[in-house]
Parts: sequence; structure tokens; C-alpha cells
Amino acid sequence: MQFRLGLIGHPIQHSLSPWIHNQFLEKSGLTGTYSLIEITPEDSFTRELEKLKSSGLHGFNVTVPYKQKIIPYLDQLEWKAEVTGAVNTVVNQNGKWVGYNTDGTGYVRGLKEQHPSVFEDTACKVLIIGAGGAARGVYQALIAEGLSNIDIANRTTVSAEAIAQKGSDGVQTNVLGLQEAEEVLGHYNLIIQTTAVGMKPNTEEQIISLEQLNEGSIVSDIIYQPLTTKFLQTARRKGAHVHYGHTMLLYQAQYAFQLWTSYNIPIGDLKQQLKTLLEGR
Ligand code: NAP
Repeated sequence: MQFRLGLIGHPIQHSLSPWIHNQFLEKSGLTGTYSLIEITPEDSFTRELEKLKSSGLHGFNVTVPYKQKIIPYLDQLEWKAEVTGAVNTVVNQNGKWVGYNTDGTGYVRGLKEQHPSVFEDTACKVLIIGAGGAARGVYQALIAEGLSNIDIANRTTVSAEAIAQKGSDGVQTNVLGLQEAEEVLGHYNLIIQTTAVGMKPNTEEQIISLEQLNEGSIVSDIIYQPLTTKFLQTARRKGAHVHYGHTMLLYQAQYAFQLWTSYNIPIGDLKQQLKTLLEGR
């Protein structure tokens, strides 16, 4: 069988997903292709999706800015995608499109590998900065792991409130503005940066000041281009443990590949290879 896979989004020319999925295809011994399918804001989204459906692709990833926009075009949503309200993976199941979200699970797996202690103490105080599609996935995945103190700070606080409303019983979530987050940063054991601020080419930008950061806290940034964002550089200087965004990228892809092919790829040295590739960019 020849797997036909791909990615929709805009802009996607510099995406690393083809590199990752081609590695997976090679490692698994399966044959197939993973194509970039750029859908620009000028294109008719409906028409492009009709074309995609008739092409009979086996599955595809969805990235910015379509993770929410894709939902009305799907035949079914898996529960994680439903509760998250964002889809990053679509599986063609006998002509029906089923939407999944592997971002949050991918994120948690990378964090757990590096900092298992976070998940051993459900009282760990977490601050998520950002309230976009990625933040929604991360929030739900942390709740699924039993964490119960998860605050959200965002420029647009109503977006953070919308995420908090999808919390669970027993989960405490305060919504903060960005300035307030700067002031109370010392309360948190784990800070997760999920906004697009600091991403290439705007590498000199940093979403908030880390002046109040506690030495020894864990600071994570899901941006992977650059791998070491200004946010992480500052955190490291302040004595925090830093966690990079490439593991989320790799593991969300691994889960997506498994959904399409039923093949659970051994990661082996791919994590290090991806890190080296990103460091060289
Ligand atoms: P999104 O849905 O578009 O959300 C963007 C977020 O960034 C929102 O919280 C937005 O705040 C905030 N933001 C953007 N520009 C800002 C600015 N100038 N000042 C303050 N806040 C700003 O995007 P997303 O899908 O969540 O992705 C966000 C980032 O995560 C991207 O850099 C993406 O590459 C990265 N990501 C990484 C992975 C991975 O595998 N490592 C996976 C997914 C995403 P407002 O709500 O106020 O607009």
C-alpha cells in the first residue's frame, strides 16, 4: 500500500513535517508520500477541501491557521479534538474524515520525559502563556494527566476565559492579562510559553519579562524555530530549567503517523537528529 499523506496550512514552505514523516516512512519500511498542500487566505477553503477529499488522501495534518476552521468539514471528531476545539490530524476512514488532536499529548510526552517530577505532584502550579489552538491542546492534556492548578495568561483574556470554561471539576484556572502574569510569575513551578511571539523572524521578541521568575522553576517554550527562543535564553540566565519545543513537534507527528498507518515508530535517535537540524537553521 502506498500511503498518501500531507499537511494543510499557510505558510508551510519551511515546515519540518515532511522531513519527520519521510523519516517515519523510511524507518517503518512503509511506502508513501507526505506533501505540502498550501491553502492561502485568498483560496476558497471549501473548494480546496473538496479537491482534497476527492483526491482520496489517507490522512493529513492541519496547522495554522486552519486547526479550528477545519472542524465543520469533518465527519467525526475524536474526544480530545472535541474538548480541545482544535484538530491537527485528519484520518480518512473509508471516505469519512475523522479529526484528532495529537498536539497536547505530544507536548506532555516530551515534558514528562525530561521532567517526570511535574506529574508526580498534582499540586504543581502551572502558567500557560497564550490561548490559541496549541494552548487549548496543552491545557487539556495537562488536565488529563491530573494537574489541577493551571492558570492561563493571554493578550486577549476572553480567549483564555473560553479555554478555562472547558476545564474539569477540581481544576483551578485563573485567567490573567500579560502584565499581571509578569508580576506573579514567582508563584509558578512550570511556565509554558505557547504564543507565536519570539518565533522566526521575530527572534528578539519576548512575550513577557521574566524578572520575577524563581530560580529552579521549569520554563518551556513550544516554539521550535528558533529552538532556543529569547524567552528560553532569559529563563536559563535566571537559573530555570528549560524545555524546548522540538519534542512536541516530533511526538505529535509520531501519534499522527500511528493513526494513519497503525505503525508505532520507534523514535530512536530522531529526537537528537531533529534538534541538530533545528540548531543548524
Ligand atoms: P494561534 O492559535 O494563532 O494562537 C496564537 C497565540 O499567540 C494567541 O494566544 C495570541 O494571542 C498570541 N499572540 C500572537 N501574536 C501576539 C503578540 N504580538 N502579542 C501577544 N500575543 C500574541 O497559534 P497556535 O496554533 O496556538 O500556535 C502558537 C505557536 O505555537 C506558534 O509559534 C506555533 O509555531 C507553535 N506551535 C508549536 C508546536 C510544536 O509542535 N512545537 C505545535 C503547535 C504550535 P491573542 O489571542 O491575543 O491573539
